[in-house]
Amino acid sequence: MVKCPECDAEIKPPSDSIEGEIVTCQDCGASYELVKEGKEYSLRPAQTVGEDWGQ
Ligand SMILES: [Zn+2]
Repeated sequence: MVKCPECDAEIKPPSDSIEGEIVTCQDCGASYELVKEGKEYSLRPAQTVGEDWGQ
């Protein structure tokens, strides 16, 4: 179980999560990249493209 840095909600990574997987906070919708540190998970901000998708 990890906590969302934005809103402190608990995010439960899937049991088969792998490092680098993107998890999304159900509460605030923020996306994070899952980082595995030993048996623990931590989060780092996902590389988002932003709103300028062009077309
Ligand atoms: Zn959140």
